Amino acid sequence: MTLLERFYQGDKIALSKIISYVENQSSEYRQVLAQLYPKSGRAYRIGFTGPPGAGKSTIVDKLTSFLVKENKMVGIIAVDPTSPFTGGALLGDRIRMQDLTNQESVFIRSMATRGSYGGLATATKEVSIVMDAFGKDFILIETVGVGQVELDVVNACDTTLVILVPESGDSIQAMKAGLMEIADVFVVNKSDREGANRIVTELEMILDIRKKKGEWEYPVIATEAVNNKGIDQLLNKIKEHREFITGHKIFEEHRKNQIKGDIKKILELKVRELVDSRILKSFDVDQIAERVFRCEDDPYSAVEKVLKQVKITN
Ligand code: GDP
Repeated sequence: MTLLERFYQGDKIALSKIISYVENQSSEYRQVLAQLYPKSGRAYRIGFTGPPGAGKSTIVDKLTSFLVKENKMVGIIAVDPTSPFTGGALLGDRIRMQDLTNQESVFIRSMATRGSYGGLATATKEVSIVMDAFGKDFILIETVGVGQVELDVVNACDTTLVILVPESGDSIQAMKAGLMEIADVFVVNKSDREGANRIVTELEMILDIRKKKGEWEYPVIATEAVNNKGIDQLLNKIKEHREFITGHKIFEEHRKNQIKGDIKKILELKVRELVDSRILKSFDVDQIAERVFRCEDDPYSAVEKVLKQVKITN
């Protein structure tokens, strides 16, 4: 059986191997991705971000258990831009999610920085396409911190959750970190701790000012993830958001905008490849530089002349 046949039969080892192709951008990767693409598009992506220790992993675990009970197939991607690549899964995740890993319908993958030239956000998206084609209903994408890469990662999701805790200080911190703009649902976890009510109220007040008629009303959900409290309400809100964005065509628009961004990135990459592999090799750059040096040509006109002779396709 070929790798793809095994993949389509639900073989997790085949899934893992194909994800590695994508992560490593090995020679097979574009072809495999092209074959899987028509089978994707069904999975719903949920992003989780927030400060370290806020309880993202705990929430992802608990939500997954709820989804599994509903007979859903779940893929989890834990993205850590601060860690070097450790080979498939970070140790902490393996230990943390042992219960989930044993579940047939759950697949967990950790991703860390590893020179992928589209960047970690692109690699994460491609891995989610693979999981989608494998038949996952939900893909939960969890990021470790709150930097730009993490924001890019969760921004590519359909529903984004920002997880805060009473200790995060005040909601102003969240605004500063750019979290307010990307969240569809706010979660105040560790609601067993002091100050939880205050941060919930503060967030609700800020969100109330932003409220616009006919638009999604950003909810704040208090959870106590370790004790599984509030997770069912959270799941209901995610489902509500999904219904809202699909009903208002926001889902489609958001995904199409992302695709436009992807196309632009790929084009830029291809043009750069073209410059390196073809243009710079087939023209005598030394001679062009010599002419510019002698002021017989200016750099812009010299480049125009080169471009006029370039054939973009074979
Ligand atoms: P992450 O870094 O955001 O993924 O956070 P983790 O899920 O690893 O949680 C960090 C710590 O907070 C762990 O020790 C959890 O057991 C704990 N934790 C998670 N949720 C709660 C909660 O609701 N209340 C309390 N008191 N602790 C929690």
